[in-house]
Amino acid sequence: MQRQILALLASLALASLAGAQDVAIAIHGGAGTIERSELSADEERQIRLTLETALRAGHQRLENGASALDAIEAAIVILEDSPFFNAGRGAVFTHRGANELDASIMDGATRNAGAVAGVSHIRNPILLARRVMDESPHVLLSGEGAEEFALDQGFELIPGRYFHTERRWEQLERARRQTTSSMPVPPAEFRFGTVGAVALDKNGNIAAGTSTGGMTNKRYGRIGDSPLIGAGTYADNDTCAVSSTGHGEYFIRAAVAHDIAAQMRYADRDLVTATRDVVHNRLLKLGGSGGVIAMDRAGNIALEHNTPGMYRGSIDTDGTVTTAIYGDE
Ligand code: ASP
Repeated sequence: MQRQILALLASLALASLAGAQDVAIAIHGGAGTIERSELSADEERQIRLTLETALRAGHQRLENGASALDAIEAAIVILEDSPFFNAGRGAVFTHRGANELDASIMDGATRNAGAVAGVSHIRNPILLARRVMDESPHVLLSGEGAEEFALDQGFELIPGRYFHTERRWEQLERARRQTTSSMPVPPAEFRFGTVGAVALDKNGNIAAGTSTGGMTNKRYGRIGDSPLIGAGTYADNDTCAVSSTGHGEYFIRAAVAHDIAAQMRYADRDLVTATRDVVHNRLLKLGGSGGVIAMDRAGNIALEHNTPGMYRGSIDTDGTVTTAIYGDE
């Protein structure tokens, strides 16, 4: 009897320890040629404020006991609603002057995943990706079919003009002027701005999500890495959660997000070593530029980019809030 009581007390202590699990969140708003000279003081202030708002929104949910999935969703929705980032409201334009958005989400506890590609009338594609994961037997839905699914799920289809921002339209016009080829590889300024988040919740589960407008002036239904599990997004409790941003074609070829997890699993590398190798070695050797955010179950965080800057931020397990834009921060 005494032994049973001791066992019960021990399990209660363990449960309360598990309940006391530290939480953490990290986000990005795209990597690229972000120089101090390109942002006005006011733009920089607003961007940092948006990053911090997104971080705090996700972190608050984690503190309240929400899942890592719910936290990254909350953070990404704020970034999607901001015109500063190439996702949701601030999505870039295609060659035809439309917006085709991609997003994906993955649960590290179950390795369930959901994604959408090429949707044009969804305010928050990350929410639709989550719905694909939770309410369909599929992983990736695209274009009109994805929007039909959205309607069936009670989502509102919004008019394309919601995504019209002057800054992105001017970018498209510049890109059109600068490129004569029908299949251009646009200069760096037209390629970046994707958003993403990774988080660790009180149950010790990690998750990752990514959302993007893709590449300015894209055509022929081009899809990048962001909606592809293993390239733009990956999460597995045994290794890490990863969200990528950068020149998508290279991230697909390097299977960036999965490669970081694979290095941890098969080569026994720690999070930071694996992330650095993929971003600064394997990806760079292919010619791919960009960055990733990654987190493991212990709440370790890696924010790595091989570009001059990356919009990024984190709240670590100690509750320390950090936001950064340039490479030297
Ligand atoms: N990776 C995205 C894409 O290629 C772009 C970005 O990260 O900004 O579609």
